[in-house]
Amino acid sequence: MNPFDVTVVGGGMVGATLANLLARAGFAVALVDAAGRPAWSDADPVGLRVSALSPGSAAVLTQAGAWDRVRAARHCPYRRMHVEDGQGEGLLEFEAAPFGLDLLGTLVENDLLCAALWDALGDPGPQGTRPEVFAPARVAEVAQDAAGTHCTLEDGQVITAGLLVGCDGPGSRVRRAAGIGGSAWSYNQHGLVAVVRKSRPNPGVAWQRFLPGGPLAFLPLSDGASSIVWTLPTREAQALVAADEHDFMEQLGAASDGWLGRVDSVGPRAAFPLGMHLGERYVAGRVILLGDAAHGVHPLAGQGVNLGLADVAALVETLVAQRSSGVDLADPRALARFDRWRRSETAMIAGGVHAIGALFRPGALALPRSLGMRLVNGSWTLREAFLRRAAGLGPNAPRLARGVTIPELAGAPA
Ligand SMILES: Cc1cc2nc3c(=O)[nH]c(=O)nc-3n(C[C@H](O)[C@H](O)[C@H](O)COP(=O)(O)OP(=O)(O)OC[C@H]3O[C@@H](n4cnc5c(N)ncnc54)[C@H](O)[C@@H]3O)c2cc1C
Repeated sequence: MNPFDVTVVGGGMVGATLANLLARAGFAVALVDAAGRPAWSDADPVGLRVSALSPGSAAVLTQAGAWDRVRAARHCPYRRMHVEDGQGEGLLEFEAAPFGLDLLGTLVENDLLCAALWDALGDPGPQGTRPEVFAPARVAEVAQDAAGTHCTLEDGQVITAGLLVGCDGPGSRVRRAAGIGGSAWSYNQHGLVAVVRKSRPNPGVAWQRFLPGGPLAFLPLSDGASSIVWTLPTREAQALVAADEHDFMEQLGAASDGWLGRVDSVGPRAAFPLGMHLGERYVAGRVILLGDAAHGVHPLAGQGVNLGLADVAALVETLVAQRSSGVDLADPRALARFDRWRRSETAMIAGGVHAIGALFRPGALALPRSLGMRLVNGSWTLREAFLRRAAGLGPNAPRLARGVTIPELAGAPA
């Protein structure tokens, strides 16, 4: 008998959500993370790394015990999205209410969300159970046999469980240990991030302009500032990170074409390499990959961690169903269904995001692109289909993303 049902490797946004949900569903969970709870304080300025989280992700995070904590701290819901072609006439506008949504998404600092998830790990689960946390602790080896999985930490401790889930990010050690290959390529672009204040406050709009080097996004923050993600060819991004503040603000002002007036101030800047990777499978025996360990997509549609949180919800739904029907958690047929479910969903989103990026690359024809954008903007059906998927509420969305609670999932009264 294994002491744990599941070992979760990686306590980032994806792994910490999984550990919380599994513990709340009554599973015995070990969580290992190299870093531990991030420091976050509302006295600090807004962090550089933020995520646009879909309503589906918010529902999952509510069940994980983190969403109320985030909402009590700092967040910015948005109900409008504007996408324009900076090289042509195309324009797309989305609003939540006409499509029956309260919100299109919520901007949250990654460190705040992680801190809230780590705080939620201390809440007692059904029989007072909580995940057992090993942090800071780095995983050195992962092995499996017919009886279970064996996770060896760098200090020599071994954690044994029925399943091991790798949520250890894009450089996943678990993925390598499980021998899971896949395809990966670099866009030769970096995403430059910074917090920016313009002469007029951001009115709560997620704004994006496609430029020859890549899209420039202004995402709304609660105090009227914007968090920008500016995709640029790698050298240009590095030059702009190093540029003096005045030059940077001038170039950003020109690239944003005067939207909300002039750039008044900019905080620290950083740039992250952008690539796409897709695991050839997410399950190898008793080892499972989720989040960036399994897949990575270009941030232009803000889907990366949203996909990871949908993976989490789908796995929890699968494992609860297995337990309810008395099937072993590592049952190959059930895990194969989970694998197909999540890989098909990810492949579709990653392909769509990749195609959108390609449409705006230099050399792509501006006229058909503008016509296409106008066609989508004029079509209720296309915009609704797009919005429901972006909201994490598409036809294959897991039940937790649709608002089902953990007790309901487990068949108990809420
Ligand atoms: C510029 C930019 C903007 C983005 N914007 C958005 C957005 O708006 N919306 C969105 O949905 N996504 C966005 N993303 C994507 C999103 O940031 C990622 O998908 C997300 O961070 C992945 O989370 P994760 O928990 O899977 O992995 P990670 O955040 O990489 O976490 C991995 C965890 O594993 C731990 N770990 C690693 N190795 C080990 C080991 N050997 N032993 C123990 N622990 C280990 C680490 O300490 C870490 O805590 C953006 C990405 C970029 C680059």
